Amino acid sequence: MTKEQLQQFFVSQGDKSFRGTQVYEWLWGKGAHSFEDMTNISKDTRQMLNDNFVINHIRVDQMQRSSDGTIKNAVKLHDDLTVESVLIPTKTRTTACVSSQVGCSLDCKFCATAKLKRMRNLNPDEIYDQVVAIDNESRLYFDKPLSNIVFMGMGEPLMNYNNVLKAIEMITSPEGLGMSPKRITVSTSGVPKMIKKMADEEVKFKLAVSLHSAIDEVRTSIMPFNATFPLKDLRESLEYWYAMTGSRITYEYVVWKGINDSKNDVDALVRFCKYVPCKVNLIEYNPIGDDHFMQAPEETTNLYVRELERNHITCTVRRSRGKDIDAACGQLANKSKEVTV
Ligand code: SAH
Repeated sequence: MTKEQLQQFFVSQGDKSFRGTQVYEWLWGKGAHSFEDMTNISKDTRQMLNDNFVINHIRVDQMQRSSDGTIKNAVKLHDDLTVESVLIPTKTRTTACVSSQVGCSLDCKFCATAKLKRMRNLNPDEIYDQVVAIDNESRLYFDKPLSNIVFMGMGEPLMNYNNVLKAIEMITSPEGLGMSPKRITVSTSGVPKMIKKMADEEVKFKLAVSLHSAIDEVRTSIMPFNATFPLKDLRESLEYWYAMTGSRITYEYVVWKGINDSKNDVDALVRFCKYVPCKVNLIEYNPIGDDHFMQAPEETTNLYVRELERNHITCTVRRSRGKDIDAACGQLANKSKEVTV
């Protein structure tokens, strides 16, 4: 329930709306897992809450630590489904990588989550709770609060747009975590209609697009939904996004052997990058047990870097993190039975 709904509930019971605010703060400010914890609320009221409501907080079922410090959480939801979230520490920041759906309805051929059926969208509180759990781990293990959030876990955030937005509202509100939206990045495989909608709503977080190819034929072969949302539409929505928000876009891009490793592929990316101010993250591929996809050799990545830089396009080469615990990007498909439905 939202804060307003809680307030209305208490008013309807002849109590003060302030009681709703108190319960809300216990739930989201202090992360209370039981009504018993809400010590500034009378015993009778706590009993009444217990009789009528349940608290569906997530539960970190399993935590794994990588040799590089990365932490992966298997998160159990109230209906026993599982998603995963990751804490990625670096010298300067600690980043939470969170899930937005159980499974995914898109079918990117190189992604482990795509192999799971989409079971359901996560609720705003389930997304928020992943962030809180990682913030606690960051304080505990690295002695500092979480600094950044990326929606790069399981699922397509723009296919669960309303709930993702509500979660971000809670994360950024002073009653929640009070984080700056500039430290939040929503990553999408590129749903033009939703990118335009976000632009219209003048959201303040950052946008990353999983591009992987700037040639329609190639992109459709690895991300089949590109047939429905071709690059022309994606480009148009990104131009609109930039016009409305003035916020630079990040393109995520993996270079695969024999798929997008020719000079033609590089030139197409350079051309695409000229439409809207952007930067390119060349990310390392994490094999998911499919021989079709293999990371291209370093020379090919270097060719991309050289050409992008020659054209004054910022580009970074991202090393993978948490590989030894399957926490690396695209691998958040727990091998246990719970999620391989
Ligand atoms: N659905 C969203 C967010 C989740 S995927 C999206 O597509 O952006 C997060 C990032 O990991 C995306 O850029 C995706 O293309 C990338 N990815 C997926 N599988 C991968 C793999 N096996 N190796 C490397 N990156 C992968």
